[in-house]
Amino acid sequence: MSDVPTDPAATDWGYETAAVQASIPRGLGQTVGVPIHAAAAFQFDTLEQAQGEFQNNTGLSYARLQNPTVRALEGRITALEGGAATVALASGQAATLTAILSACRAGDHVVSASSLFGGTTGMLNNILPLMGISATLVDNTPDAVRAAMQDNTRLVWAEMISNPAGDIADIGPFADIAHERGALLAIDNTCGGVGYLCRPLAFGADIVAQSLTKWAGGHGSVMGGSVTVGTRHDLSRNPSYTDGGEHSVLNVRGGEALAWRQRWLGASQLGMTLAPHSAFLIAQGLETLALRLSRECQSALELARWLRTQPGVGRVSYPGLEDHPFHAQARRYLSHGCGAVLAFEVPDPAAFLSRLRVLRIAPNLGDVRTLVVHPWTTTHGRVPEAARRAAGVTPQTIRMSVGVEDVKDLKADIARAL
Ligand SMILES: *Cc1c(COP(=O)(O)O)cnc(C)c1O
Repeated sequence: MSDVPTDPAATDWGYETAAVQASIPRGLGQTVGVPIHAAAAFQFDTLEQAQGEFQNNTGLSYARLQNPTVRALEGRITALEGGAATVALASGQAATLTAILSACRAGDHVVSASSLFGGTTGMLNNILPLMGISATLVDNTPDAVRAAMQDNTRLVWAEMISNPAGDIADIGPFADIAHERGALLAIDNTCGGVGYLCRPLAFGADIVAQSLTKWAGGHGSVMGGSVTVGTRHDLSRNPSYTDGGEHSVLNVRGGEALAWRQRWLGASQLGMTLAPHSAFLIAQGLETLALRLSRECQSALELARWLRTQPGVGRVSYPGLEDHPFHAQARRYLSHGCGAVLAFEVPDPAAFLSRLRVLRIAPNLGDVRTLVVHPWTTTHGRVPEAARRAAGVTPQTIRMSVGVEDVKDLKADIARAL
């Protein structure tokens, strides 16, 4: 079930070229964009073909496993992340679960940086224990990760540009620590913009999991997620892959074992398949991601600097600001900007939010429109208070995902609401 690269040149293309050209075949009568294949099943001519497909699962048979529109999206994400293979799934949560289960089974352990998306914290603390998989959440530093490693640790997890704190995972050292112990490093690259701001695989990560609902879709119109693997991962010390000797997953699937297992788990068995209409919207969103996100990063930096000068505004947190604790790491790992999410404190969040006329109150990221939330009562409302404060969230904090509007209108709206 490996990805069939639609265009071998895609790996050499620049980001903006791959974003619009990858996964679109050339030729007479071919569609110019990605077409929607509204299909649940695909035909065979002979019994032999059907039998072969059911044995190898490399082509098209039933759309829970593969669909041409979803496959086009997968090829495009593989090119944009600089990976070897991608499985697209129904949401970012589906991608997280698939990535973790592809490395861990009952009795195994995950070490994760604690500055996480709330759904990931919930997955690690509440869902995986139901399956016998334990997790230790630690500070986002190599020392803390190293100290938490156990003999049964199969996966290290961290987020690229956490929100709202803006932590930047130190991918290189995290990868070394994981690999010394035979574990894999997975990075949630949702805020890394599908490889535009950061390509975790190039810094040593083994797995990139992400929500495509955010910058990939980009218009608040669709949900999706994906898991991408690189080529260099070592599974030889992971019993899920080596049990069974010559019949083991590793032996039978070779270098494609990890990607094969992710598709098998997430799509084929758990059924968290991405719908072709959603894949189409996301593939189309990817075509303008670089344009949108580079502008959003510029506007976010301008707004962060400006907010600091506004009377009544408390702490402003954005990794692009020189005094942010992760600024140096941001410069090492990010290109094109430091992301579109920033946080700032206002004296009266309820009054501030009620006066907005351009910014909208909504719990999403990466939309073309600027969205704000009050994390204390919403996204982080169920996180224990100490952990909330550790994540950079106070009762005064406003999180903002900057859109593509004219910055002067955003400033005017914020100034009025203050
Ligand atoms: C939104 C988000 C997710 C979950 O994605 P969904 O598409 O909402 O399921 C995971 N990680 C991060 C960093 C996110 O922002």
